[in-house]
Amino acid sequence: MAVPSRRVPSRLRLATVVAGLLALLGAVAAIAMAGGGGDDALPVPPTAAVLEREAAAARRPDPAVPEARTRRFDAAAALRLVRDQVAEGQRPSGSERLARVRARLVRRLPLGRTEPVAGHPGLRNVVGRMPARGSGRGRPAIVLAAHYDTQLAPRGFVGANDSAAGTAVVVEAARALLAADRRERRRAARDGEPAPSRREVRFVLLDGEELPPGGSEARFEQDGLRGSTAYAAAHAGQLGAVAVVDYVAGRGLRLPREGQSDPALWRRVRAAAARVGVARAFPDATGPTIIDDHVPFLRRGVPAVDLIDWSYPYKQGLDDRLRRLSERAIDATGETMVDWLIAERRR
Ligand SMILES: [Zn+2]
Repeated sequence: MAVPSRRVPSRLRLATVVAGLLALLGAVAAIAMAGGGGDDALPVPPTAAVLEREAAAARRPDPAVPEARTRRFDAAAALRLVRDQVAEGQRPSGSERLARVRARLVRRLPLGRTEPVAGHPGLRNVVGRMPARGSGRGRPAIVLAAHYDTQLAPRGFVGANDSAAGTAVVVEAARALLAADRRERRRAARDGEPAPSRREVRFVLLDGEELPPGGSEARFEQDGLRGSTAYAAAHAGQLGAVAVVDYVAGRGLRLPREGQSDPALWRRVRAAAARVGVARAFPDATGPTIIDDHVPFLRRGVPAVDLIDWSYPYKQGLDDRLRRLSERAIDATGETMVDWLIAERRR
């Protein structure tokens, strides 16, 4: 989800009340689920035929988003991974559906494994990594993160952009970075040089970003953000920079700097966007301040940015579906993250 940290504008109050009632219904369903019903209380996932149609919609041209000039990130594969997650339907923390998704995600990340979320039995973050080399071993690690759970409410919410897309960007960025690293090492070996020093990169898929049953949107930072809070508590001292991707694949994508994102780190991300030719999707502007998974890292003094398109019209609703995404948008984000990680590993 992620919530704005400002007061809610008055015209949104009714929507908030309605959302609150839906949240209550969702919580009742979740409690029923926790009561031994497995995932039986969750709504039926979208059919393969529906997903096929929606995937075609996501591949339609999106002229408002600039086309990247690099070809490191596989946007088609990323969209397939969004579809793979959405095919499970609504997949809140603790559900069997999310456990199935998690098992597949672990296998896709380099050195992938899971890590318990302290204080929240049953919740697990998924962590992959590319180890440091040479003098990079003494330097703090870089993190690319997204959450992989979905909201409990409204019932039927599938979270294509929030955050199956962010999750897919993390996984496919890892694959692209690994390929770039292999090329680099081969080149060094051919030239009879040692592989260059590089910092460690971690690919972190966070559980429990969304509110648990009975959680309050007014207390989102305390009730939500469970995976990132635990990860930051355990590892902040090892980290030098964190980028969180959330709402990064909507049609017409725009990612201004989120209000509390670290300005210096943001400038480096934006420089990467310019290098891959998609600066227009990263306007030199500041958007709203959002409570999201970057906050626990900022609280512990780790420079962090949240890439989030708060103008996405379908956020937190039933229409946050595959058909609202665009291949070109996820590519712009993915290519930018890969270029940023390549540069950041050398710092
Ligand atoms: Zn989210």
